Amino acid sequence: MTIYGGRIFNRGRVERGYLEVSEGRITKVLEDAEPDVRGLIIPRLVNSHTHLGDAAFSARFAEELDRLSGAPLPDRIAALFAPPDGMKHRLLESTEDADIIDGMAGALRTAYRNGQYSMVDFREGGVAGIDLLRSAADTCGKERPEILMMGRPASGGYDRLEIDEVLDRSNGLGLSGMADMEYSTAKSLATHVHARGKLLAIHVSEVERDDIEKVMALRPDLVIHMRHNAPSDLHALNSAEVPIAVCPTSSGRLGDVPDIGSMLDAGCTVLLGSDNAMVSAPDIVQELAFAGAELDLGESHLERLLGASGKGLNRMAIIDFDPGQRADFTVLEGDFEDLRHMVGSGPAEARVVVTPDGERRG
Ligand SMILES: [Zn+2]
Repeated sequence: MTIYGGRIFNRGRVERGYLEVSEGRITKVLEDAEPDVRGLIIPRLVNSHTHLGDAAFSARFAEELDRLSGAPLPDRIAALFAPPDGMKHRLLESTEDADIIDGMAGALRTAYRNGQYSMVDFREGGVAGIDLLRSAADTCGKERPEILMMGRPASGGYDRLEIDEVLDRSNGLGLSGMADMEYSTAKSLATHVHARGKLLAIHVSEVERDDIEKVMALRPDLVIHMRHNAPSDLHALNSAEVPIAVCPTSSGRLGDVPDIGSMLDAGCTVLLGSDNAMVSAPDIVQELAFAGAELDLGESHLERLLGASGKGLNRMAIIDFDPGQRADFTVLEGDFEDLRHMVGSGPAEARVVVTPDGERRG
């Protein structure tokens, strides 16, 4: 029997509390106890947006970002990320599969160690690209989060047979920006993915504002970024209950942190992602801490972000703790009064990750 806690994020807010765990199950939720591990208990978290495929390129990325430091933001993003000629896509083309797989496997292990429950990965390169991610996952054995795989066509166009093959191997499509393809192509892809009952995610308003009506007509399950938006865009997403995944650390490194406060004030569900692995390591506690500090978010905003990152796209991790449940949570070690306090203290490096199989130091 082990007792964890001091503070606990339970049912959407931080309160005083402890969990008693025995044989992989929560046996008691206590208001007072002498814990074996003291800290703030939070759910294991879902990373709602990654591109793990470029993990192998982090050194090259840092050099290139340096070189582009004087360029305007849209030019920087295009030079680094735009398909097919941006740095990332050139490197994905020219790098040996084994090196790409090694990079992805390393990122998966990092995410597992720091307490991530699952990841929504956006895999480039069509069917072959998805198979690389599967190989990386296999090399990790059990030491990795669950993965929702989002594929995309290798050509960028719509080929019915190719999309069927991609969807056979994945959970859905994770499309590049609206500006990167013909709208008719986006429509065909969206129709196909819905007919197959799979997920559709798309990068929206990353560099400049996209037409939200065209986006909504695709009936996405998830949109990424929304860095440039009008209040009516957020209203449309909230009304249709389409969550937004934002990537604070990566966006901040490129020079533009998304205005998460206005998204939350508009009622939107905001999920956290770590984006390209060559830009930032997959760590959602770090994303919460960075966003909270950079944007000076209040406690209720932080609570909503944390709760949403436990649920993910489809209530993935356990976010309400009760006796009898399987033990599955992370303890951020320290004496944190609340989330503001945790954010103000830095990204809580010392962690204990508790799973039904036992605990490990993150
Ligand atoms: Zn992305």
